[in-house]
Amino acid sequence: MNLILLGPPGAGKGTQAKKLVAELGIPQISTGDILREAARGGTELGLKAKPLMDSGKLVPDDIVIGIIAERLKAPDSSKGFILDGFPRTVPQAEALEAMLRAMGKAIDRVLSIEVPEQAVVERISGRRSCPRDGSVFHVLAQPPKRDGICDACGGPLIQRDDDRAEKVVERNKQYREKTSPLIAFYSQRGVLKAVAGEGTTEGVHASILEALPQR
Ligand code: AMP
Repeated sequence: MNLILLGPPGAGKGTQAKKLVAELGIPQISTGDILREAARGGTELGLKAKPLMDSGKLVPDDIVIGIIAERLKAPDSSKGFILDGFPRTVPQAEALEAMLRAMGKAIDRVLSIEVPEQAVVERISGRRSCPRDGSVFHVLAQPPKRDGICDACGGPLIQRDDDRAEKVVERNKQYREKTSPLIAFYSQRGVLKAVAGEGTTEGVHASILEALPQR
């Protein structure tokens, strides 16, 4: 089952991807996580990506396409994968299509998680993330058991630089201009399903399961 989670920043893609990993036993592939890891490690890729990420802009297509091309070669994605945060532009979607075709694969479902912009701002500003294992919490909606501490690994939680209110405006703009055309792109291919992203994590998860192709 090859899936894409599409939606504005803060729609819950990462949270829902993690629930699907547990349910389906296929890996989550998040370009945002891969880029943040590279930025923390100070690699060449990370140094290039960090200023763009910090300003809420997108990293160039060729860079993220290269990351995905490498990642999809790993054996853990042979039974399927959940793409979270990729593709984010039409050229990325076209490159992905070509890449998968060459591997004899295709995207089975694109889940478009729909959330109104006001709800997105609220979610992002309260989001706290664990840089060590990628767990995500929300100060009000999903607080960790101990304030500021990751439930899963016990490490300190942080607010991502690009989750600060002033950066969220730019990220929403990038989504509207560059990513939202993917809704039409995948709708034309007959693989898109819209899912209402408001409500509880469990409720949205249930809607996503219903929108998956027959297993
Ligand atoms: P995310 O964690 O998915 O919100 O991604 C955080 C940041 O990483 C984005 O705001 C972009 O700067 C960068 N990024 C992640 N995925 C992509 C992508 N597919 N294309 C371009 N930039 C990306």
